[in-house]
Amino acid sequence: MPVHPTTLTAALEFPAEVEVDAPLEIALHVACPHGCDLRGLPVEVVGAGEVLAAGELADHDGAANVSDEIQLHAPRRVGEHEWTVRFPGRAGEAAEHAESTLRLRFRTVPHACSLTAWGAPSPATAGGKLPLKVGVRCGRGCRLTGARVAVIDGAGKQAAAGVLGEAPWPGTEALYWTAVEARAPVGEGVHAWTALLADAGTELAHAAPPAAFGFRTGKPCEHRATVRVIATPARTPVAGVEVRVGPYTAATNADGGATVAVPRGTFEVTIRKDGFDARPFTVAVDGDLQLDIEARVVPGRIELRERAIRDFPWG
Ligand SMILES: [Zn+2]
Ligand SMILES: [Zn+2]
Repeated sequence: MPVHPTTLTAALEFPAEVEVDAPLEIALHVACPHGCDLRGLPVEVVGAGEVLAAGELADHDGAANVSDEIQLHAPRRVGEHEWTVRFPGRAGEAAEHAESTLRLRFRTVPHACSLTAWGAPSPATAGGKLPLKVGVRCGRGCRLTGARVAVIDGAGKQAAAGVLGEAPWPGTEALYWTAVEARAPVGEGVHAWTALLADAGTELAHAAPPAAFGFRTGKPCEHRATVRVIATPARTPVAGVEVRVGPYTAATNADGGATVAVPRGTFEVTIRKDGFDARPFTVAVDGDLQLDIEARVVPGRIELRERAIRDFPWG
C-alpha cells in the first residue's frame, strides 16, 4: 500500500507569548500531496509528554483538511514551553498516511493587572496622616484577596503596605483594594509616589506596572470654615455643592452645610455645582470662621445643551 506524506500547519497563528492559564484555540491544516480527504482522522496537542487536547479533521476543501478549533489552556506556570501538534496518520482504504508534527514554542507570562492608588487628600497635612486606597484589578478578573501591595515614597522607601481585602470595590467587578495609611512628608510641596503589587499570593502569577500618583502637602489645617450654601432668591439650602477654600474642599450636606479644615492664610472661596453659580471671593483665615454663600440658580449643562440645539440656526 502506498504511503502518502502529510504536512501539518497551524490554521490560526499561534501567539509567541500568552498569559498563564489563558484559553487558547488551535486549528490545524493537514495536507496530502494527492489531495486525499482525511476527514474524521484525529489530531492532537501534546505537551510535557501528555495529550492536552484532541480534535479531528472536520473539513476538506479539495486540497487540505482543516480541523475543528481545539480549545485548551496555556500552562499554569510562567516560562518557556514547547508543545507538539500531531497528526498520527493512519492506514486508509487506498493509501496509508504518514504521521506529521508541528512544534509550537511559546512563553507564558503573568496575568497583566492594573494598579491604582487614590483617595490621598490633596493637600495633605505636611507631616500628618496620609490615608490612601490601593486597588489591583487582574485583566482576567481573578480574585486578588490577600495580595500584598506597597506604597513607595519619593525617596524610594516603603511608606505603607497593605493586603487586599475580601470584596471588590463597589461598582467594580474585580478591583480588589485596601486602605493604608502613610505619613505625609514634613515639607510643603508636591510629591510623586508610587504604589506597587509586592506579591499577588495567587497560584497563577500576576504582575502590574507600578502606579504613580501625586499629592500636595500644606500647612496643618488648624481652623474650621463652617460653610452654608443658600440658593438665591429662594433662600433654600443647596446640597452636594463642592466648596473650595483655596485648595481645601468639602461638599455640602442636605442642610447646605459643610466644614472645611483650613490653615492660616488667605484663600479664594469658590463653589461648584451644575445649575448654580456664586461670585468667588477672598477670605483671610486667622481662626475658625463662618461663611454664608449665596448661590444663584443658572442654567445647567443639560439645559444649556438643549438651548444650543433649540437656538441653532437650523434652516
Ligand atoms: Zn493521500
Ligand atoms: Zn488573573
